Amino acid sequence: MSREDTALQVRNESRPDRVHLRDLTLDELQGFVRSYDLPDYRYRQIASWLYDKQVGDFAEMTDLPLALRDRLGQDASVAALHTRTMQISALDGTKKFLFELGDGNLIESVLMRHDRRITFCVSSQVGCPLDCVFCQTGKGVFGRNLTAGEIIDQISALKKTCADDVDKVNVVFMGMGEPMLNLPHVARAIQIMNDPAGFDMGSRRITVSTVGHPRRMRQLADMSLRCSMALSLNATTDSQRGRLMPAVSSYTVTELIDAARYFAEKSGRRVTLEYVLLKGLNTSIADAKRLGKLSRKGPFKINLIPYNAGRDTAYETLSEDEIQEFIRGILPYASSVTVRRSKGPDIDAACGQLWTKSLLSRKKPARAVSPPGDTAL
Ligand code: SF4
Repeated sequence: MSREDTALQVRNESRPDRVHLRDLTLDELQGFVRSYDLPDYRYRQIASWLYDKQVGDFAEMTDLPLALRDRLGQDASVAALHTRTMQISALDGTKKFLFELGDGNLIESVLMRHDRRITFCVSSQVGCPLDCVFCQTGKGVFGRNLTAGEIIDQISALKKTCADDVDKVNVVFMGMGEPMLNLPHVARAIQIMNDPAGFDMGSRRITVSTVGHPRRMRQLADMSLRCSMALSLNATTDSQRGRLMPAVSSYTVTELIDAARYFAEKSGRRVTLEYVLLKGLNTSIADAKRLGKLSRKGPFKINLIPYNAGRDTAYETLSEDEIQEFIRGILPYASSVTVRRSKGPDIDAACGQLWTKSLLSRKKPARAVSPPGDTAL
């Protein structure tokens, strides 16, 4: 992997006083450029370098005068992460990235290919303060919330690795972290993704996946951003959810379903109910029936996720026949059931695998400094 292909260079790790331009909404970027007494076409040029061409250095903005590039370089930066490791699946081309942030913290992102369509799975936090029993990320040490610029940087870095044969890019917040615990930065990043002068992405192409925080799910709905939602339900009763996802057991299944319905009604988009299949824990025929019935409580669709064990042998997923039997239990009640097939089975592609492996090999922990944002439940 060449440096030029993959790296967004860290420009400001020793100068935290610099503005990170991908942290700014497009209106703020325009205001920033105007503060230099520059005409608006300079703003359009810079936005195009940031969001069409994914540059990682002012030196690459070759249609700007050299003096302006130098001056911008004094006051601002255009990237806040660089690639530490990349793995490529020989089986399906999935790419898994370990990015290093300006403060030394590490995060994961994944690029998955489906013919001419690409999905970027991005992180919203360094680690995760929740501890869902089936998730590697929750087993590591939580660091901090990511800034909007660090979220956008992941997308820029991943876009930079795509060839021209890509028709569509989707972004899913299904990497490290719980997006509802970092809502201000996640919402700002979605605003930048939505903006025609940013990534110009609509609601079909952005999915926020949450384990569920009813109040913040409603807040996100009320922001009228263009995005879809996936509720990582994984259980059909409160007690079952308490065992699998103890950190969020204070919210009942009913409260979560109500909040998901509110989001669906506000956004006009069906919400996906995600369900990780953990053999013997949430996969009985009674579970299938309850899941089917829950899916009728709003404009929902069900996405079953066979558990990706990775190095973790504590849990098992279902065989193909057992998955089909589970689906037969759901179908009398549900209008839509899909199964997500695992990508990158030959690399550390399950959420948190590469990151936890890198933490184990690390001598010193990174600094844990949080930018503004409320991580308390
Ligand atoms: S599943 Fe999501 S919310 Fe749960 S520990 Fe993993 S990253 Fe955090």
